[in-house]
Amino acid sequence: MKETFADLARSVVDRGLCTGCGACVGTCPASALEMDYSLDEPEPCQTGECTSCGICSRVCPGADIPFPEIEERVFGRRRGPGEELVGVHCRVLSARATDEEILRAGSSGGVTSALLDFAFREGIIDGALGAGMDVARPYRTAPVLICGREGILAAAQSKYAVVPVLSLLKRAGDFKRLAVVGLPCHVHALRKMAVLEELASLTSKIRFVLGLFCASCPFYTGTEHLLREICGIEPEDVASLEYRAGKWPGGLRVRSRDGREVTVDRHQYVYHFLVFYSRDRCQMCYDWSNEVADISLGDRWTPQTGEGAGLNTVIVRSETGGELYDLACKKGFVDSEDITLESVLRSGALEAKKHAGMYRLQRRMAKNWPVPEYHYPPRIYPLPVGERHFAPRKGQRGG
Ligand SMILES: Cc1cc2nc3c(=O)[nH]c(=O)nc-3n(C[C@H](O)[C@H](O)[C@H](O)COP(=O)(O)OP(=O)(O)OC[C@H]3O[C@@H](n4cnc5c(N)ncnc54)[C@H](O)[C@@H]3O)c2cc1C
Repeated sequence: MKETFADLARSVVDRGLCTGCGACVGTCPASALEMDYSLDEPEPCQTGECTSCGICSRVCPGADIPFPEIEERVFGRRRGPGEELVGVHCRVLSARATDEEILRAGSSGGVTSALLDFAFREGIIDGALGAGMDVARPYRTAPVLICGREGILAAAQSKYAVVPVLSLLKRAGDFKRLAVVGLPCHVHALRKMAVLEELASLTSKIRFVLGLFCASCPFYTGTEHLLREICGIEPEDVASLEYRAGKWPGGLRVRSRDGREVTVDRHQYVYHFLVFYSRDRCQMCYDWSNEVADISLGDRWTPQTGEGAGLNTVIVRSETGGELYDLACKKGFVDSEDITLESVLRSGALEAKKHAGMYRLQRRMAKNWPVPEYHYPPRIYPLPVGERHFAPRKGQRGG
């Protein structure tokens, strides 16, 4: 017997495992599902008649992500020794967009936007799915369909709240060649979709997947708390909100309808956000560097040394990703240099996710609490000595 949406709701949503990626909504052939945005994190709900086709359960990354099988299918092999912390990859680079407007608009080095710009100009894609801000409620995020340079610039910058990007797949019929930008959970769902024959006409349009590194995504309440308590602005009075406005790393810039402008330093709000408002499902996530994307992108910044401000770390993983990236560099859209994997292990929030996250997973499993199944054990792999995040400085004790 095929599963209904009610089964998925029971096994995933009601057990706190829904990622809010929107895949079930975007692929439901009966258009019977919608995202419910009235909650503190968007969740799918049934609004039409379910035909029990079971597709929503099969694409859902909430409870099951078959990493080894996905790796074999997408990369032709499973992760090997030395790849435990970042997944299968062929090259690791430090990069920035060459176009000044894109560089200014981007969160890190603008490479995500530059790759989209290149792909549009070359005719590789005619549409892309990404994340923007809700026009009616500018303090909240919303999925967006990007149709060219103007859309790329408008959607640039990290949105530190859940965005059900994949719910827009149902509108993909308007496009012939798509790119998707997403967090690890979005990419897990896309990789699960790719094996379903029923979805072949949709998934065959996806030319490449750009994956952002992700420490975690906060609840909407995180942003709303910041607005009220730190900015002194009620969410309903917000005219615009940017999470990474201004010079790198950018701050949370809010403009109110009555003309006030407040900017909160990024280090202040990221700490507040990621520590206190991180969603429960994000704290059970195995994947920091978007391990099954074609190309993964993060901040190059290394807290230990302060290097890499305004640059991206880029991890090229698949053949598709490699071809796209090399061509974008060759045609002058991206400035790039090879770096070592070890230097990446010191950057971003790898520590929080691959170590603390694994510990959390192990603990939940020991208590028999719901956890997603990744088909790899949640082992804590130590960083190579000398590459530790908080390695003691000269003169300090420790090793
Ligand atoms: C919630 C979150 C957590 C992150 N955590 C880390 C981290 O721990 N370490 C690290 O190094 N980097 C992290 N990043 C990635 C980093 O902030 C940049 O997004 C990344 O380096 C790409 O920068 P860019 O300048 O190339 O992107 P840009 O050129 O600014 O383009 C960003 C693209 O990503 C899309 N996008 C933005 N937000 C979202 C979202 N929430 N969901 C789906 N798509 C989105 C936009 O539509 C846009 O197309 C995180 C990003 C997010 C959204």
